[in-house]
Amino acid sequence: MLKISQLSKAYRKRKVLDNVSFTMSVGERVALMGPSGSGKSTLLNCISGLDTPDEGSIKLNDQDIVQLSSDKKTLLRRKTVGSIFQFFHLLPSLTAIENVCLPIQLNGFSQEDQLARAQSMLEQVGVYNRAQAFPREMSGGEMQRVAIARALVVEPTLLLADEPTGNLDAENGDRVLDLLEQLSEQHQVALLLVTHQPETTRICHRNLQMSDGQLSPRMAPAQDLPT
Ligand code: ADP
Ligand code: MG
Repeated sequence: MLKISQLSKAYRKRKVLDNVSFTMSVGERVALMGPSGSGKSTLLNCISGLDTPDEGSIKLNDQDIVQLSSDKKTLLRRKTVGSIFQFFHLLPSLTAIENVCLPIQLNGFSQEDQLARAQSMLEQVGVYNRAQAFPREMSGGEMQRVAIARALVVEPTLLLADEPTGNLDAENGDRVLDLLEQLSEQHQVALLLVTHQPETTRICHRNLQMSDGQLSPRMAPAQDLPT
């Protein structure tokens, strides 16, 4: 589903990604750990298309997105990759349901269809009762649930999560992780999860470690496969 080969990127001659290669299969959940500044967000941003690598390839369902024109890249990304972040990145001027509708407004659905899909996603993440609330009226846990709904409403094959529980208390973080595991199973969405918290890897099949832009399998034993 995802095949990354020999990806490199430098900022002002300093290598931030150094010959990174790995693959992910359909529905697989992979944790990505490593110190601050080691290149984790840069890697995710290259996959989501927010950033461009200097060298290497990123194949999503056999298509190299590095080589695509920026129009095609945007289109492919919009359909196959969803992202969530530590600080949620919801648009403050839109309600929860409007935020969730946003990614499918450009996909040619009727307004009715958009609303029905957004409603269904908000139900699935457990915040349907907050549909008309603005981000400033919601708790962190609620905002992250809305962000998850927005990421999954396009039915992506890959969800990129950059420290999604980093700004939540332990209990809400735990609930968001359970939700990510459940939705990944249910929709067969692969999850690439950047985290600082070792306990967060419990929902992952496999752990990777990043240091100074280089990737290695994590030495600590991975947890048993989630049941
Ligand atoms: P992580 O997510 O692991 O904390 P990042 O991928 O954010 O690390 O950053 C890796 C390195 O690249 C850091 O040293 C950071 O300062 C640098 N970096 C990230 N983005 C930029 C940018 N736009 N311009 C210059 N340097 C950057
Ligand atoms: Mg980061």
